[in-house]
Amino acid sequence: MRLDVLFLRVPQLLDEPASYVILPEGIQLVTILNENGLKSLYYSADFLGFARKIRAYPSHLRKRTLDNDEEKRSFLNLSHRKWYKMRKILKKHLPKVVLIYPHKSYDYTGALLAAETVKKTLPNVKTIIWNVLGIYDYFISSPYVDFVVKGNFGDTEYITLSLVQKIINNEGSFNEIPNIIYRKKGRTIHTLTKIVLENLDNFPIPDRDFVVDKNYYPRFAFGWIEGPRGCIHKCNYCRMSTNVAPIRVRSPEKVVLEIMQVYTKYHTREFYFYTSSFTMIRKWAEKVCDLIKEKKLDIIFQCYSSPDEINESLIRKMRKAGCFRIGIGVENANSDILRLMNRKISIEKVKKASRIIKKNKINLETTTIIGYPGESIKDIYNSILFTLKLKPDGFAIPIFIPHPELSITQILKKEGKIIDENFHEYYSSQPKVRLDNVDLNVLREIFFRYNDISYRLEKIQVYKSLLNIRYLKAKIVEKSFDIFNRLLINIFYC
Ligand code: SF4
Repeated sequence: MRLDVLFLRVPQLLDEPASYVILPEGIQLVTILNENGLKSLYYSADFLGFARKIRAYPSHLRKRTLDNDEEKRSFLNLSHRKWYKMRKILKKHLPKVVLIYPHKSYDYTGALLAAETVKKTLPNVKTIIWNVLGIYDYFISSPYVDFVVKGNFGDTEYITLSLVQKIINNEGSFNEIPNIIYRKKGRTIHTLTKIVLENLDNFPIPDRDFVVDKNYYPRFAFGWIEGPRGCIHKCNYCRMSTNVAPIRVRSPEKVVLEIMQVYTKYHTREFYFYTSSFTMIRKWAEKVCDLIKEKKLDIIFQCYSSPDEINESLIRKMRKAGCFRIGIGVENANSDILRLMNRKISIEKVKKASRIIKKNKINLETTTIIGYPGESIKDIYNSILFTLKLKPDGFAIPIFIPHPELSITQILKKEGKIIDENFHEYYSSQPKVRLDNVDLNVLREIFFRYNDISYRLEKIQVYKSLLNIRYLKAKIVEKSFDIFNRLLINIFYC
């Protein structure tokens, strides 16, 4: 039977750690579409039937790919293996609508190439670029894109459902659907912009059975669970700051029910809370931890937390519920640069949060941005030194990315400081902003030098974690099921 909707996670030039995981917002939408009678599937175009677990992309491999023009050209060529597989999936399922999700800035080029591939393979299919945070013109001006759904005005699930229903039922008028853009007789039409908030507890539990090739995915890919949506902070460098909707969250009961389903059905033991900060609503985080304990789920999990929300009793509770790794943002050690970044979290709070996390024997991961406009080489080294003094078990030192939807990017663009708009190369190892005080080659060298150290630390962290019995048990269970699964696939599918 012909598919109504194919949800498409855009392919990337580099496979990132998140390439193979099933994104919660995507599978949530697909489940809602199915619940409302639209036969829909989730397809990750990066997943080619096998997955390496990449904790951090080894610097030398990243460098080799990003410095290799041949490799970049090959990705942009529609005969590349990822596009070839996409055409096969399209021809197999014959969807009526394709929802294309550019998750990060480096997906933007891929999103347009995906729309082109869809239209050239199945010309009558409608394409929707879903949940984008800005630069709407970039997408809607492509002849291969029919609709854009804006992602920065709250929840888009039911907006998308109405849009898809209208397309499939051939009801011409899209005007009453808020937060979308479409083209009509050569004109671009923006519908009403308004904040749309849903009761997230009314959403069905995301059903990962709707994933294309689900049998081939490793256990960890199923374990991404959506935490609170939104963020109260407005850091200038972060795409999240473009989201104007307030924080909203599903009840802890619903979240833990989802964990239990993934636990039982896919035998996943390692979970990741997908949110800007797991601890942004303290009572919610505590209740989730209490329920995990109450249900005796022997899982392990990791999450991001904002340093200003961390306290001793909460971290202890998280540890008891299975938390083995927490990531926090350091971002910069210089208060002037923090001010330029509009980052309201002081380095004292970062120090205190790190101490508490380490004291409770949870692995500490940090992120420190380098190459922010206004920084000097001395600032950069001070920030790195400050980060290392926190004794993290892993750290990332990404180069500032001028995400095109940020207001700082618009300013930098006017000043002529943006180097290029090859979005498929907007990775954290590629300087894209000309800096007054820092040579970009030096900046890149710093990135690779420290990320190499970080990659080694990551490996040590994995071995260190094996001393944690709960972690070890979870890994053994997951690995056994992965091996068993592969065996079944080899026997029955090959
Ligand atoms: S606190 Fe984190 S998620 Fe929130 S705006 Fe700042 S960087 Fe982004």
